[in-house]
Order: sequence, then structure tokens, then C-alpha cells
Amino acid sequence: MILYYDACAIIIISLVVISCVLKRMFHGRTNGLFYILLGMMMASAFADLCQAHMQNYSAHTETNRILQCMWQYIYFGTHNLILPVYMPFVYSNIGMWHEFKQNRKVKGLWLGGIIINAAVLLSNIIYPWVFYITPDIEYQRRPGIVIFYIVAVFYMIYEIGVLYKYRNIIKRDKLIVMVLLFPISALGIGIQAMFPSHLVEMFMISIAILLFSFIIWREEETLDPVTGAKKYSSAHEHIKKAIATGTPNYILLVKIVNYMNIRLYLGQELLNEFLREQSGLMRQVARQTSLGEDLYYLEDGLFGFISDSCDYETMKLFAQKIRDHFLDILMVKNFSVLADARLCILGCPEDIDNFNTLYTFCSSFHTIMPETRDVMHYPDYVDDRDFKIKSELDDIIDRAIKSRSFEMYYQPIYSITEKRFVAAEAFVRMRDETYGMISPGLFISAAEISGAIHAIGDYILDDVCRFISMNDFIGLGLSCIEVNMSTSQCLEMNLVEKVGRLLKRYNLDPAMLSLEITESAVDFDPDIVDQNINRLSEMGIRFSLDDYGTGYSNVKRVTSLPVEIVKLDKTFVDGVDDPQMCIMVQETIKMLKQMGKKVLVEGVEEEKVVQKFTDLGADYIQGCEYLQGYYFCRPLPERSFIEFMQKQVLN
Ligand code: C2E
Ligand code: MG
Ligand code: MG
Repeated sequence: MILYYDACAIIIISLVVISCVLKRMFHGRTNGLFYILLGMMMASAFADLCQAHMQNYSAHTETNRILQCMWQYIYFGTHNLILPVYMPFVYSNIGMWHEFKQNRKVKGLWLGGIIINAAVLLSNIIYPWVFYITPDIEYQRRPGIVIFYIVAVFYMIYEIGVLYKYRNIIKRDKLIVMVLLFPISALGIGIQAMFPSHLVEMFMISIAILLFSFIIWREEETLDPVTGAKKYSSAHEHIKKAIATGTPNYILLVKIVNYMNIRLYLGQELLNEFLREQSGLMRQVARQTSLGEDLYYLEDGLFGFISDSCDYETMKLFAQKIRDHFLDILMVKNFSVLADARLCILGCPEDIDNFNTLYTFCSSFHTIMPETRDVMHYPDYVDDRDFKIKSELDDIIDRAIKSRSFEMYYQPIYSITEKRFVAAEAFVRMRDETYGMISPGLFISAAEISGAIHAIGDYILDDVCRFISMNDFIGLGLSCIEVNMSTSQCLEMNLVEKVGRLLKRYNLDPAMLSLEITESAVDFDPDIVDQNINRLSEMGIRFSLDDYGTGYSNVKRVTSLPVEIVKLDKTFVDGVDDPQMCIMVQETIKMLKQMGKKVLVEGVEEEKVVQKFTDLGADYIQGCEYLQGYYFCRPLPERSFIEFMQKQVLN
């Protein structure tokens, strides 16, 4: 007997085990099955080596014969388990574990082969019809051994069939190596059957497994180095398989919404440690809940947990434990962190069966679902109008741009000194066939992100200019229309030329147009914004500063810009009943007046606010020129606005 092959097989398998341990492949079902496979191979090669050694070198005693029998039983026992263990390993590795777990037929066939092998092997103790060890400690094959070969061929055919069935969802290199395992092992079995003294069978199988571990079992490619969770690309593969095969999966999304703030607070290194700890904790909780290890780190503070083997209740229990964890103050070194985590469970493909939709949902669910720290369940929100709109917003906006389905509404602005409406503000609305009128609060920021705001902004400016140039408008006695400008529009390089062309086209006095900018636009890129504003202002266009008092008001910037009117935000003036806030508002107005600005109060809904800012009230806040709000009039569509204003003029 030539022993070198078995010895080499043991060395190779040991190397594979060492490399797996060094790669820290400890987590998950597939890794577990891989270790069992390696264990079976190691035991089998070792038993083969021992029995060959005894056959070559041992004295012909009865004790040695029994010992030899024992090695032979261990060899057959473990060797015959390699292919049966490979079967669940294949299912788990290609992401079809649920089929193995839930399909009784599959499980029955799998167990059937193991039981037949075990029964045949055990019956050999009573009657040696599989193998026999002679008193000279020589191994003899008997006809019963054919059953092992038949069972082995059955497993091979079955496993090749599974790989063939799911060939489209398995990565090509993985598929090739998983299939290659069969011809390589078959070659070994063939050679050993023809030349029984050459123990090449285990050697060949170990070569195949080495190939396997080098080519596809590279954990560093699937694990995120920072968090230790699986990478986005693995989640991508997992989800694509679930969708292609209709495998029911539950996905738990955990988004730390204040991730950027935590990053600023901790710095990158501590942030990494923080993420690593959270990832480790979530995996630990998953293990305790018997949910496996499929935690993925997707992007900026977003984790995803995917399971194909649990029901909704188990996933919810797991999610609640994670939620409770994030409600506590977390410690990273000596820093305490309060992570604002949003959690949502959804079924794939049950709830979302399209990869792109799922991807968009995962990265934006925290912005389109309510701000709650409870665990959300996707189906609870699908009928909610705002949720539907937000989920389909990019498509809705695209449709609206193509069909020019935007409409401008106008709200009059009241002059306290002139006691009449002197101007109006234009607000855009988007019309959709399914959802009706959609307010800008829902779509402007999405349009800013997607870039659609430029096309929308062009439409708005054009439509407002058209409105101002109408004969109907001229008789309304309004000095100008205010147009809200988004930050992205203020950054457009050709804004000045664009506005210039519009004024020419509609033959307008530039002073009829007042552009509303916000402080965020001013802070964004001072150079381009300043240039645009100054050039437009030189052309005679007016400017207002919107939403004053909502951000960190940068007084230096406010003074340096040619802004005529500063609009105090509703939230800023809402609290004027409070004496402290009253002083604050009064002093702010005084300061703005000293800078030569006019002041407008937005969001006026009640009579008492009107009194407060006009000399009608006892505790009158001086200095405000204009009022605007539902108290006077809600924003109206163009025609209704004209009618409303015409009535005012007649009165
Ligand atoms: P904003 O420019 O500060 O507009 C004020 C918002 O408050 C408007 O909501 C208006 O309809 C509403 N409003 C007016 N009076 C009252 C009141 O008395 N009480 C209350 N509670 N609300 C009042 P809207 O039209 O939904 O617009 C929201 C925001 O969307 C605007 O804030 C502006 O930032 C943006 N937006 C609106 N139209 C446009 C537009 O044409 N272009 C751009 N870029 N942004 C727009
Ligand atoms: Mg405004
Ligand atoms: Mg405002």
C-alpha cells in the first residue's frame, strides 16, 4: 500500500482548515457545514492511513485485526458521509437553504442515502458482505460494497442536478468549482478502484477542496473589513437569488439616521469601532434568536439582516431586541453615543420583488416612512398616500416634467403701511394622474437630489413671467411676484442669462420679479451664489431672504447681500406670546431695520398675530412692513387668484 497520498491529503485538509481559521470563517451555516465536510474528510483520510499502515506493518494478532476492523468502519462511516454533507452545503452555499429545509422529499432522499449506508455498514458486523479483514489483517472487498458506490452515484447525480437547476443564480466561478469537485473525486475513486494499493481517492478530493477554498471561499471578499458584517455585494447576490427563485426572505433594515453627526463627534477611527461593536452585537443577538449570521453592512450607517429561514414573528422579536439596544446610551471608549436607529421589516419577494425598487427603498426608507423608533413593517405603510408618493417620487417627477404637469399657485402679500395687497408669492404644485396635486414639501428636496429641480425651476420661472406679462395681471395693482429659488438653481452657471432671456421674451420690467433665496443657498457656495445674485440685482431683479430664523442665521452674509426683504419664518414668530420670544422677535426686526432691510412675517393665520405686528395691538412689535398667510388668503390657482385680487381692487 502506498501511504503518501493519504498523508498528503491530511496535510492539504489541515492547510485548508488553518486558512479558514485565519480568515476568521467562524460564522454562519455555510461555514459550519464546510467545517463538518473538512472534519469528515480528515477523519476518513486518517482512518484510511491507519488501516493501510496496519496492513503493511502490524503483527497478525486478533487484537490488531479488531483494531484494523475499527479503522475500516471509521473510514467507511466518515467517507460515506462526505457526499451527504456536501448536499446541504451546496444548498446553503448557493442560497437555497430553505428548499433543503422545507422540502420533505429532498430531506427524505438525503436521509434515505445516509440510512442505507449506515444499515449496510452495520450489517457488516453480523455478516461481512461489504468488507472482510482476514486473520492476516488483509482487507478484502465483498459484493455489498457496490451499494456504497450506488448511493454515492445517487448523491452525485442529485447534487449535479441541483447545481444545474440553479446554474443561473450561481456565480460562474463558484459553479465551475462546485461541479469540478465531482469529476476530480470520480477520477480518484476510479484510480483507486483499478489500483487498490494507490490510496489516491482522499488525495484527489482534498485537491478539489483546496481549489474550492482558494477560488471561491475567500471570506475577505465577502466581509466588510470595518464592521465584520457581510459586504453590500453579498447582499446584492442574496437578494437577486431570492427574487430569481421566489425564495421567501425577511429583511430587517437598521438605519442609524444620525450617522453623520456621530461621525463628526467621534472621528473616523472611533466611528469604525462603534460600527464594529454594533455589528458584533447584532450578530450576537441574531445567534441568540437562532437567526443565523446574515448581517450585511450596506452603506452609511445602514445595516441589513436577511433571513430565509425565519417567520415574521421571529424577525420582529429580533428587531425589537435591536431596537431596545439602540434606545440605550452606547459607549465607545469614553464617549457616550445616542444612536437614532430606524428599523423596518419587509418581505422579499413578498413585499418588493424588484431589485431596483428594493435598493431605492433600503437607502431611503428612513426618509419616506414616519419618524418612529418602533419597528416598522413595510405592508403597514404601502397604502399610505405620502409613502406611495415618496417611494415613486423620481418616476412621478419624470412623468410630470414630460407632461409639464406643474401648476403655479399664488398667495397675496399684505402691506401694513399701504393697507392692501402689494405683491404675491408663487408656489409650485405638481399634478399626477394617480395622486392628484402634490405639494412642494414632498417633492422639492427629491427633485434637488435627482437634479430634476433645474427643469422644474425653468418651468416655474417661465410660467411666472408669462403670468406677469398677462393683461389680467396688470390691473391687479401688484408690484411684483416672488419666486422661490432652490439652492441648486442659485448655483446654476447660466442663471443670469436664463432670466435675462425670459425678461426679454415676455417684455418684463425686471423689478416685477423678486427671487426668494434661503440661507442654505447663501452658505452653499458663496462665490457662485454671490455672483449670480449680484448680477441679477444689477439687472434690476429684487431679492428676498426666505425662512429667516430657522437656521443658524449668518448675519454677516445677510448684510452683504442685496436682499430687500427678510421673511421671518412662521416657526420663528409663532412663539411671540412668550415674553422672551417677543423680545427676540422685536430685537431681530430692529436689527434688520438698522441694516436697511424690510421685514415680512410669514404664516399669519390669526387675527392676534396681525394685531401684534400692526399698531392695533397693545404690545405692538414695530417695524414689520408686510404680512402673509392663511389669515388673508390661502395660495390660489392662477385664475382664482386673479378673481380674488380683482374683488380686492373693486373694494
Ligand atoms: P416657503 O417658501 O417658506 O412657503 C411657505 C409655505 O407655507 C407654503 O407651503 C405656503 O403654502 C404655506 N403657507 C402660507 N401661509 C401659511 C399659513 O398661514 N400657515 C401655514 N401653516 N402655512 C402657510 P408650500 O406651498 O407647501 O411650500 C412649502 C415650501 O416649498 C416653500 O416654503 C418653499 O420652500 C418650497 N416651494 C414652494 N413652491 C416652490 C417653488 O415654486 N420653487 C421652489 N424652489 N420651492 C418652492
Ligand atoms: Mg417662500
Ligand atoms: Mg418661508
